[in-house]
Amino acid sequence: MGATRNVGSLQPGSARGNPSHEKSLQPREREGVPRKKERARGNPSHEECKSAAFQMPELSRVAATLRAGLEHHYASVDVSVVECPDLTKLGAAARGMCGSTRLIEFGGEPYAHNPAYRGTNIDVDDVLRACGMPAAGVFGAGMADTAVNNGHCGELIPDMLAGESNLSRVARVGTDRECIVEPYPSAVCGPIVNLYVSEGRNGEVVRIDVRTRIGEQPSLPQAIRDSLRPIARSQGHIGMGGFFKVLSGRIRSHVMPDYGCIGFDYYDTDTERVVRDFLQFYDHIGPDLLCFSTLWTGDPTGGDLNLRPSGEHTHFRHVDDAAQQGGHYHGDITPGEVHYLGFFNLAERILRFGDIYADLGTSP
Ligand SMILES: [Zn+2]
Repeated sequence: MGATRNVGSLQPGSARGNPSHEKSLQPREREGVPRKKERARGNPSHEECKSAAFQMPELSRVAATLRAGLEHHYASVDVSVVECPDLTKLGAAARGMCGSTRLIEFGGEPYAHNPAYRGTNIDVDDVLRACGMPAAGVFGAGMADTAVNNGHCGELIPDMLAGESNLSRVARVGTDRECIVEPYPSAVCGPIVNLYVSEGRNGEVVRIDVRTRIGEQPSLPQAIRDSLRPIARSQGHIGMGGFFKVLSGRIRSHVMPDYGCIGFDYYDTDTERVVRDFLQFYDHIGPDLLCFSTLWTGDPTGGDLNLRPSGEHTHFRHVDDAAQQGGHYHGDITPGEVHYLGFFNLAERILRFGDIYADLGTSP
């Protein structure tokens, strides 16, 4: 474990129960002088995370906007505001997804792919202390910590009620390129993570039931982002976390292979860019998948948070572990058959930890 650097770690007690510790970001002028790369190679302390507020429109407006937008993507659309059902009955760790809602983003591609930064990780318990909410429901999408994962890379499917239960799974690529899904009994996440954090309470959420895709966009979270544009344009950016089930149809997914199994140079450490496709893709996955999603219409600071450019991150696992299906969700490949049922809620704020792009003076 000596080689593992935990750059997301907070000093004990430094941020405990003190949410004002968050540094609020205002859009600011970018300096022309790039910061030196060496800065990211030391042992940067991320006791302070960057934080910004999302807009919080009425859920009824969000539902109406989603209904109108999703009708361009799916033939059958039913969107309403409902009391959140008991999500544990659907397979989630926490009963609900309301109360002190936050999106979390940690790390980025350089941490994941530049050998100089391998082993970078963050502990969810530290994130929750920074949020001032040590007890919380947490789910999302990220990379596994290789030390926790017995030396393997893997797609992490975090799903936990902090301090009570951890239903997280990790998907990795086996020696025959098969997908292997295993329990991940740790709160330590790898170099890229997007999380939705809440008090895990009941409350009002947006229920989305769509089937039969008629649009070109195969990804439900991207269709949701597209549908939310009228609100983002008129009011400002919003963020959401969501839990959805693939009831019928099949999807495309990927899992990152182990570094040693890729067999060619896929990453340019000078430009900090992926230059060759190295992922293991799987088609015909599903149905009966539990998907954990974070999405945002854009960066509320105008770019200072260096957020993941896709604006969403969704991982999934099969309801039956024996199916050995899990990983990064791309979208459906069976538009005529696809049927999703999901519950989404607005995130009040986003907290950005481990902004490697700011340290390198680059952008994602
Ligand atoms: Zn992913």
